[in-house]
Amino acid sequence: MSERRVSELRGEEVVYAVQRQERTFLPARDHCPLDATRPGGPATEIPFPAFEIAVFDNRFPSFEAPDGAAEVIVYTDDHDASFGTLTAARAEALMWVWRHRYAELGARADIDYVFIFENRGVEVGVTLHHPHGQIYGYPFLPPIPLAELLADERRGGCAPCALLARELAERERIVHENDAAVVYVPYAARWAYEAHVVMRAHRPSLLDCEPAELSALASALQRLVRGYDALFQRPFPYVMAVHQAPTTGLHEGHLHVEFYPPLRTAEKLKYLAGSEQGAGTFISDTLPEESAATLREAIARGA
Ligand SMILES: [Zn+2]
Ligand SMILES: [Zn+2]
Ligand SMILES: [Zn+2]
Repeated sequence: MSERRVSELRGEEVVYAVQRQERTFLPARDHCPLDATRPGGPATEIPFPAFEIAVFDNRFPSFEAPDGAAEVIVYTDDHDASFGTLTAARAEALMWVWRHRYAELGARADIDYVFIFENRGVEVGVTLHHPHGQIYGYPFLPPIPLAELLADERRGGCAPCALLARELAERERIVHENDAAVVYVPYAARWAYEAHVVMRAHRPSLLDCEPAELSALASALQRLVRGYDALFQRPFPYVMAVHQAPTTGLHEGHLHVEFYPPLRTAEKLKYLAGSEQGAGTFISDTLPEESAATLREAIARGA
């Protein structure tokens, strides 16, 4: 079981999940635990000879009932695929799976915040290459969603709505858009190629989206990720974070998906060092407008 402690100095929770030390670390290609189970072969996490999308409890959970949840979402049984290479239909189906998990986990009394995310690439600590994401059901409201709710309070209205309006007015940081979603490098991006995929309409969560909006969201996410891969012609590492309303019923939110890629050039990683770790201030050597121009071209190439 994991243990939670509050850091008094920072006013934040820290989770000790020591059992995670034992988790599978970059297994050989033919021992992938996220593959389908081949008839007569060793059992994987998914006891079926084929599957489309699979969701199950993380065997090495950071949170577990009755104090939260940790789930794994496998996007496909094709080990060598990625979110960007899924068919449009599969990517759209994934949005419905996300929505279902948000509803089901969010209905639990022990879960205050449902966080859907993907870590891609060894650069962000991935231990399994098979295309998959994760969901944590936090038994508290974590600091970043909380900071976004405080931005709403400070501005006296939905901050993502206001920031999106600014991006649409200025346009220079927008890298892609469709009927329902707009993708831009934010005005004050921390990472060189950070991008936010924001619903045009005020939608607190996936549950508030029309089917066409879920389809458009999937499309925008895929276009961005393919653009990332085209940027340096290599699989592009990132952390993908889906931000939605907390499930306490006490707050709103505005569905958006943030990407934090650690690369600043094809070979160079951005490290969180003195200023970022010790003072909490990001120092970036790229202007968001310049990154946006480069990323816009890459998205056109990657289409
Ligand atoms: Zn696999
Ligand atoms: Zn809004
Ligand atoms: Zn956010």
